[in-house]
Amino acid sequence: MYQYQNLEQLHKDLKNGSISCTQLVQQYIQKIKEQQDLNVFLEVFEKSALEQAQQVDTDIQHNRFKPLSGLIVSIKDNLCYRGHECTASSKILKGFVSTYTSTAVQRLIDAGAIIIGRTNCDEFAMGSSNENSAYGVVKNPLNPEYVAGGSSGGSAASLAAHLCMAALGSDTGGSVRQPASFCGVVGLKPTYGCISRWGLIAYASSFDQIGTLTYNIDDASKILSVIAGPDEFDATCAEISVPNYFKELQELSSKKFKIAYFPEAIESDGLNPEIRTSLLNTFENLKKSGHSVEPVHFSLLKYLIPTYYVLTTAEASSNLSRYDGVRYGYRYHDAKDLEEMYKKTRSIGFGTEVKRRILLGTFVLSVGYYDAYYTKAQKVRRLLYNTIKEIFKNYDAILMPTTPSTAFKIGQKTDDPLKLYLEDIYTVLANIVGIPAISVPLGKSSENQMPFGVQVLTDSFEESKLFALAKIITKN
Ligand code: GLN
Repeated sequence: MYQYQNLEQLHKDLKNGSISCTQLVQQYIQKIKEQQDLNVFLEVFEKSALEQAQQVDTDIQHNRFKPLSGLIVSIKDNLCYRGHECTASSKILKGFVSTYTSTAVQRLIDAGAIIIGRTNCDEFAMGSSNENSAYGVVKNPLNPEYVAGGSSGGSAASLAAHLCMAALGSDTGGSVRQPASFCGVVGLKPTYGCISRWGLIAYASSFDQIGTLTYNIDDASKILSVIAGPDEFDATCAEISVPNYFKELQELSSKKFKIAYFPEAIESDGLNPEIRTSLLNTFENLKKSGHSVEPVHFSLLKYLIPTYYVLTTAEASSNLSRYDGVRYGYRYHDAKDLEEMYKKTRSIGFGTEVKRRILLGTFVLSVGYYDAYYTKAQKVRRLLYNTIKEIFKNYDAILMPTTPSTAFKIGQKTDDPLKLYLEDIYTVLANIVGIPAISVPLGKSSENQMPFGVQVLTDSFEESKLFALAKIITKN
């Protein structure tokens, strides 16, 4: 079995004929079947993947090589792919078949990538451990007693188990970066508006962004150049001209960066001491290589989680109102009238966490509480935005832990949702402000041997800088 960990090697082998794309796809399908216990894939797209592979093989025979030819990609179960089921890991969408393909997935296909299947996630992307899926928890391939993280747990695990070469996830508050950190891979959340959200099932629209999970930074940069850029179907997608990120990151490889870190984040009680030490060592190594690393006080840290959970639940309560048993998926059939049909459909169709968030979101938007919660949180969001933009006037990047701890055991945090919300302390900032962030593997815990990552954040649309610095850190 070939286990490709980078696109470059795959392209060499495809070009010199040591493997065909069809063989490659067959091998991956076989491996996915062997690893079913991990509960990573909800469905393997065997037929369409083999058809795509055939097309890639024909293209190669005619010397038509595309940027992502043969790249085996898994997609999170909240990305629409025409003719394929898409459920957001919810009972309410069981059996729903997409009538169109999301822009990001279409661009991957057009660039020669193979969509191998859809991966498990937390229901409607709400969660940090993949324990909120209607289809069961994803086990961490590095140790199946542990969670893979969430909400894109299946995406990260599909890489850690070598069941594909890259994965698409979505990141509303850390759902790409946190599982990447828990599974020891690279997770990128680009700038808000960098990738079209057309065909991504909405959770909180002003936070949602599609992201990538890969084994390395080079592949992330190559995939981003393919899927980023304006889209007439998403008005929030920015009118940028997409650079060749891979080329730009190489050009920036000898740049000396001005880096900030928040002492409040590093000194926080909840941070695992080994992660703290590892970060401090990284700062020292960066300084030795001629970069500057300086503390910048960030007193607003404690407002991140409340702001995120007020605003995202408000948006979710509105976005999820469309699942009413009339237009999509599941419907309760034995109701005596319309109202009962709505109520029963939603009560049975949604899981506990999703219902909790819909209720919370409806509450913060209700007449009596709107100003106290929703308006207030919007103001804090603006304050956070202004503060971070000010920092980027003087610094190229901010470094932070990705998560306060390494992966925890399955079931360990299910009794208390607040404990799980606190997992997001370091990741939500990038979504609140709309800036890009990447998590790259930094070390392993000596206690449980599970990996943890470090996060690099830059100003909006500075993904090339982000990649360049992340690469420097992983080499340090
Ligand atoms: N863990 C966060 C939450 O539960 C992030 C989710 C996400 O990014 N989709 O909301």
